[in-house]
Amino acid sequence: MKVDLIDLSASETEQWAVSQGFEPYRGRQIRHWLLERLVRSFDDMTNLPKTLRMALKEKAIINHPEVVKILVSEDGTRKYLFRLLDGNLIESVLIPERDHYTLCISSQSGCAMGCRFCLTARGGLKRNLTPAEIIEQVICVRRSIDTQARLTNIVLMGMGEPLANYDAVVKAIMNLVGEDGMNFSHRKVTLSTCGIIPKIKHMGRDITVNLAISLNAADDETRSFLMPVNRKYPLKFLLSACRDFSLPNRRMITFEYILIKGVNDHNEDALKLVRLLSGIRAKVNLIPLNPFPGLDMSPSPMKTILHFQEILLKNNFTAIIRKSKGSDILAACGQLSGTHLHHFPLP
Ligand code: SAH
Repeated sequence: MKVDLIDLSASETEQWAVSQGFEPYRGRQIRHWLLERLVRSFDDMTNLPKTLRMALKEKAIINHPEVVKILVSEDGTRKYLFRLLDGNLIESVLIPERDHYTLCISSQSGCAMGCRFCLTARGGLKRNLTPAEIIEQVICVRRSIDTQARLTNIVLMGMGEPLANYDAVVKAIMNLVGEDGMNFSHRKVTLSTCGIIPKIKHMGRDITVNLAISLNAADDETRSFLMPVNRKYPLKFLLSACRDFSLPNRRMITFEYILIKGVNDHNEDALKLVRLLSGIRAKVNLIPLNPFPGLDMSPSPMKTILHFQEILLKNNFTAIIRKSKGSDILAACGQLSGTHLHHFPLP
């Protein structure tokens, strides 16, 4: 089988070069072409000897997914639909901010977590992505925009549960943040999880990117109703893992909280949330539920959301209301399906 060198770490790529009879620094040159120059052909790697380029063509591949479609929202958000080599589909979302872009990438095709409010969950899990398939989303999007340098922020909040594909995700992140990789800042990469506790512990040990927890409820009954994963990993243990999770330089953990009308948006919920998060350097993102066809829940009214925020602010938490972008093209949180669902009429 041919090797996809983007799956490899820096030292593995050096070893590969050595295994082909070349010096280790040739491996670093190959990585430079793949991860920084973003070339798509071994012939473009002009500083390599011809013999090495021949070896690459024979034994390696550049396995990039096909861009099936790019949808552009009226707010400028762009949703990329990719087809992987085996036909599975994934999506990435490019979000323009004031002075940079944030790219939201997928870690799995589909998802097995079954959250009640999330469209991706409805199709179930197709499969895990490889490290290269995770990184290729960044490469493809970078190649498609002309202001390359401005894509500075990456969030693993697309399709899938990153901590359910732990090894591939960690490997991909190492290549994204490595100085000998794509050189993204650790502070500008965020991994979002529904709360797979053992892997949160590993993550604290293995990588130093930002952690976001999809909390969405402040008591076990409501959270288990919304997110089946909570039955296995209940709040008490989840929050204790967050307390133990250390980020350098007093960075905060982000807690995402979708506001769903009549389900988790009462005063009492906000007060429970305050108690739950006490002692954690926490930032709370309040997100009005994004609807999609067939969803039997609705977003809380803005008045309720403001009131909820007020309670958090009064208790000295940072609480930001996140108006989702790209909802007109089903590119917002929880609206990624990897299908052509966007042809359906919106509610
Ligand atoms: N599995 C990871 C990452 C993907 S979900 C996780 O759970 O964090 C990314 C975010 O979208 C999560 O915070 C989730 O709570 C949110 N989300 C899912 N469905 C949504 C919806 N219908 N409206 C608003 N946010 C939603």
